[in-house]
Amino acid sequence: MSLVNGSETDERQAESEGELPDALKMAAGRSAILELREVSCAYEPTRPAVEHITFTVQQGEILCLLGPSGCGKTTILRAIAGFERVTAGSIALSGQLVSSRDTMIPTEQRHIGMVFQEYALFPHLRVDKNIAFGLSHLSRAQQHAIVDDLLTLTGLRGLEHRYPHELSGGQQQRVALARALALRPVLLLLDEPFSNLDPDMASRMRQDLHALLRQTKTTAILVTHDHDEAFSMADRVAVLNRGRLEQFDTPEAIYHLPTTPFVADFVGQADFIPGVVTNHLVTTEIGDFPNTQNLATGSQVVVMIRPDDIHIVPTKGADARILARQFKGSENVYTIQLPSGQVVHSSESSLSVYQVGTAIALRVVATHTVLFPQQPGSPTTMASHRPDATTAQ
Ligand code: ADP
Ligand code: MG
Repeated sequence: MSLVNGSETDERQAESEGELPDALKMAAGRSAILELREVSCAYEPTRPAVEHITFTVQQGEILCLLGPSGCGKTTILRAIAGFERVTAGSIALSGQLVSSRDTMIPTEQRHIGMVFQEYALFPHLRVDKNIAFGLSHLSRAQQHAIVDDLLTLTGLRGLEHRYPHELSGGQQQRVALARALALRPVLLLLDEPFSNLDPDMASRMRQDLHALLRQTKTTAILVTHDHDEAFSMADRVAVLNRGRLEQFDTPEAIYHLPTTPFVADFVGQADFIPGVVTNHLVTTEIGDFPNTQNLATGSQVVVMIRPDDIHIVPTKGADARILARQFKGSENVYTIQLPSGQVVHSSESSLSVYQVGTAIALRVVATHTVLFPQQPGSPTTMASHRPDATTAQ
């Protein structure tokens, strides 16, 4: 991490002298470990795999790149690691330009650690030797101290003399992690590291990895297609779709204030309810919402609603009906049909059990109203904060 401290000091000095070098300007402000500016990469000249990717990662931050298969997550990691050239834009690490059309600093000079889906351990080396693999420039005593520390941190103590084939998937992954951390990388890249593990093990590894990254103050980028994983691990999430960055935000903002319908849908169940602007409100079948964007009367929009924003109250004579109930252990998710035929979902406690067909009234308690234009293809997106609650029907 000394690189980082160095760049911070240099930056302040340069600022006080009133002349900030270009490379350092990229990391100006806070201590940005990584900055991508308008990065594009292409495997075929006419078809970019990723385009106009811009984001910053601060020291100690955990960023998740989230998106469906083929959206460009691995390509971005490979570009950061220096395995892939950029066709446009720039990448700076600790304030130093490492990739642009004319610049390609080699991988080994980037001080990046990597853990991939297939852990790529050396099969003929025992655990301790795998971890110490990149440390040959240090004395035996120094190597031993680092390996010893990491065996404790990663929970591998007692397994140091095993070969990789004598370990479970989770244990192999811990070795891969320890090996990457032994080099004290400026940035750790993890590409779908849990996808080879069974769900229980993956969940435990997520918690352990999160604690380990925090404890070692490691800055990390984790790639995943699983929004639960991204939300539980990340300080900020970059949602990608077809090679483009759709939203870069905290997990909470991504969930509650998605800026595009794609993001809204990808990160959790969402219902889109048509509405129209009348008398300064957006009127929908489940109630009125504030028109904080001051859209003209008559504008057609859709309101995004999450199941946790809709509650149901069995009410004789009400004209919405329960179509289905899905028991998920900690909650019941109800599918509701409104009189128009529109379907919405409601999340209730695991003990709230109602029969299919029950007449219900809806209580909408959305703290945020997210509006999208009704015409697909329009770039305008409107998200607004709404602290009050709306009771409908
Ligand atoms: P993800 O990791 O999100 O699944 P990738 O970054 O692997 O996505 O791929 C992004 C796009 O680039 C996809 O359309 C994929 O088919 C294409 N691609 C990836 N690697 C190569 C390659 N080596 N040659 C040609 N196209 C590739
Ligand atoms: Mg990938």
